[in-house]
Amino acid sequence: MPNENQSELRKLPSVEKVLSSPELAADIERYSHPVVTATVREIVDKIRDNVSKGGQTPPLDAILEMVKYHLIIEWPGLLEPVINATGIILHTNLGRAPLSAAAVEVLSKLLGGYYALELDLATGERGVRAQSMEKLLQIANGAESALVVNNNAAAVLLVLSTLAKGREVIVSRGELVQIGGGFRVPEVMAASGAILREVGTTNQTFIRDFETAVSDQTAMLLAVHRSNFAIRGFTHDASLPELKELAKQFDLPLIYDLGSGAIIDTATFGMTHEPTIGEALASGADIVCISGDKLFGGPQCGIILGKKFYVDRLRRNPLLRALRIDKYAAIALTATVLQYLKGQAAELPVYRMMGETLDNLTRRADVLVENLATADFSAEVTDGESLAGGGSLPDETLPTRLVVVAVKGSMDEFCRKLRLGTPPVMGCVREGKFVIDLRTVFPDQDTILVNAIADAGKSKH
Ligand SMILES: *Cc1c(COP(=O)(O)O)cnc(C)c1O
Repeated sequence: MPNENQSELRKLPSVEKVLSSPELAADIERYSHPVVTATVREIVDKIRDNVSKGGQTPPLDAILEMVKYHLIIEWPGLLEPVINATGIILHTNLGRAPLSAAAVEVLSKLLGGYYALELDLATGERGVRAQSMEKLLQIANGAESALVVNNNAAAVLLVLSTLAKGREVIVSRGELVQIGGGFRVPEVMAASGAILREVGTTNQTFIRDFETAVSDQTAMLLAVHRSNFAIRGFTHDASLPELKELAKQFDLPLIYDLGSGAIIDTATFGMTHEPTIGEALASGADIVCISGDKLFGGPQCGIILGKKFYVDRLRRNPLLRALRIDKYAAIALTATVLQYLKGQAAELPVYRMMGETLDNLTRRADVLVENLATADFSAEVTDGESLAGGGSLPDETLPTRLVVVAVKGSMDEFCRKLRLGTPPVMGCVREGKFVIDLRTVFPDQDTILVNAIADAGKSKH
């Protein structure tokens, strides 16, 4: 090895020396000592490799810079709230529905201590898990019985496994849907041990198709809401009342996987009418399954509502133990349902965002444009559309006001910097411009958003 590289190697600081630099104190506080140590070691090793091949040892502040950058790349957004400037209200990759302030308050009050999750305080005996939550759900939805599990996929799996294992479930070919990355009706069916009996065609299914398929092997009729797509043109579906009639005739349960259960009619916000939970139950479905974190506006969970006769059978399935709702979600859901019962549904973030008026959005957008101008960004306000998202309301959009920002330099770099900032920011890119929809930005984040954009415009990484 040449002599000058021996001297370069001697310049290489030790891992301990880099770690003890005051510049990393905040990173150690944020990511912990072991995490930062591992990163420093990796960087120092890399430099040593490079130096032994004839490279130079960078100065300490450059090494610190590398460590900091590496930490950001390795642990992006760790425990930081993301600013959602996409206008997609139920953004699946950003955790769907944000919880209400009331739910968050209850969580912070209860989570650090004990809660009578499975204890009946009236008798002092062991109780049903989160029983008050299920009783509140019953009342809020006018349902005979309610049961909550980990998510809606679990709800459907539990229903199929309990009521149809080894027997046939009749479903329209137009409803063999896939939701998000994982939930596919035929695969959940297979996992449950039920046998899929598909009828009709992609675009046309009639009640007589169901009728012909009924046999002594039939366990149930299943309707699945087309949550994230629409079929238009030459179409026909068997209606729920028709299915109910048929189910009754053969004494079969009618199960409705509604997916996104709205309690408030989305038409009141100027969107297309999405079937509400009340309507789904009233249509005669014996069991309705929904996601808690879609239009219901609560935590991740699967809510099963309907006839006590069937729900009681679900309760006895040993699978329930593996699919049950966790303590945190149970508490958050209880608080959310109470808000519905108190007539405070409009305060849930999902409905707040849907209800945000164009006047308000315009006012906020104008202020944002002004503040961005101060930060040397040229931006303008235009008309646009917000999306419900989360596999809800496929065609459904809300008129909104967009802030369209011109970005100097690489757009990819700019977006990456925004994503890696603190807090991270997610927006959209359209026609070479960065597009912000303030509908999904909480008003108290407007100023933080300006600072984040200003930082992304100038910061090094
Ligand atoms: C969203 C959805 C599901 C899956 O619900 P998760 O809560 O994500 O498990 C199942 N079926 C339908 C119709 C849906 O819309």
